[in-house]
Amino acid sequence: MKLALFDNYRVGIVDGDQLADVTDAIEGHDPAWPYPFVPRMIASFDRVRPKIEAMLPRARRVPISQVKLRPPVPTPLNIVAAASNYKAHSAEMKQFIGAGRFGTEMSGTRGDSFASALPSVANRPEGMRGDVFLKSATSIIGPGDTILLPDTVPGNEIHHEGEFACVIGREAYRVARKDAIDYVFGYLGLMDITVRGGGDRSRRKSYKGFAPIGPWIALKDEITDPTDVKVRLWVNDDLRQDAHTGDLIESLAEVIEFASHTHPLMPGDLVTTGSPA
Ligand code: MN
Repeated sequence: MKLALFDNYRVGIVDGDQLADVTDAIEGHDPAWPYPFVPRMIASFDRVRPKIEAMLPRARRVPISQVKLRPPVPTPLNIVAAASNYKAHSAEMKQFIGAGRFGTEMSGTRGDSFASALPSVANRPEGMRGDVFLKSATSIIGPGDTILLPDTVPGNEIHHEGEFACVIGREAYRVARKDAIDYVFGYLGLMDITVRGGGDRSRRKSYKGFAPIGPWIALKDEITDPTDVKVRLWVNDDLRQDAHTGDLIESLAEVIEFASHTHPLMPGDLVTTGSPA
């Protein structure tokens, strides 16, 4: 099942090139900010799903091409992002930073590992974990929306980072990697748009429009193995990123484990796994 929000934050299930409008199955649906029906729907989806399925055969269909798709989670409490989590990207960043391409970017904030008392990860040095950071939830935009380029120092590069992300389904606090995927509601694409250069990473990645997400949430029946997903990003017809989640240094489950040992992840929160080269 693929779950979309569209037009006035109606709830649709993807059916080929159409959406089935199942909004009436959603208890307490209210299309006004801050859209509290979304995390509630996610948290209670075991109860909601049978209602959606009952409504599906007779639900009104609309062509996807004729609706305005909305970000499928418009107001998460947290966007947790893994930094430099593919070997190729890590190496590339070290090379560019070493060459001074991104100005005064602090080497200690990128591509490095941090000591952790959590169990080790196969692809990291013993006792070390990769970094995660928070990105502003108000940087979220939906499919087809416009990324506004901010007023930065001339010459500062702004990069697209196409990433595999998940939506958390229930409160996750201090969860082990073996249980982590049980806390996932579904998956989506996220672009972690980034200003390269010096200064705090959360600010450089949190400008308005810097978190396009979507186009919908693929629930876990659609993606049964999050370690076997292709991640590709095009600019017009130019394929710029082409990766596979099997090449992540830390898997999604390991990122959730690490992040959830800092603070609780709540229903509707987004966890994104990091950019390929
Ligand atoms: Mn990123």
